[in-house]
Amino acid sequence: MRYPVIVVPFLKVSGMALYPFILVKNKQDINDPIIIRHETIHLKQAAEMLVIPFYLAYLLHYLYNLYTYGNHEQAYYQIIFEREAYHHENDADYLQTRRFWAWRFY
Ligand SMILES: [Zn+2]
Repeated sequence: MRYPVIVVPFLKVSGMALYPFILVKNKQDINDPIIIRHETIHLKQAAEMLVIPFYLAYLLHYLYNLYTYGNHEQAYYQIIFEREAYHHENDADYLQTRRFWAWRFY
């Protein structure tokens, strides 16, 4: 499934998944397959968890990591949902072959 992409110039990050939309900071990123795939993985994660629980789990995992590691960057990259998305953002076939709740393997 292809999700609608919206350009949000004041976005603090290059891309963001806000179900059911993908937000990108720069217009040219609409056609960036890596950013779009990364955010689409998050939208699939969100859909599989009925959206709100995904964002809660994401936030709680981030806060837990922040407490554990003591810095934002490591806390962010160690979120289980980010680990799956970064691991597969370069894999063009991943969205077709990804398993249900695949994030649980990360
Ligand atoms: Zn991400």
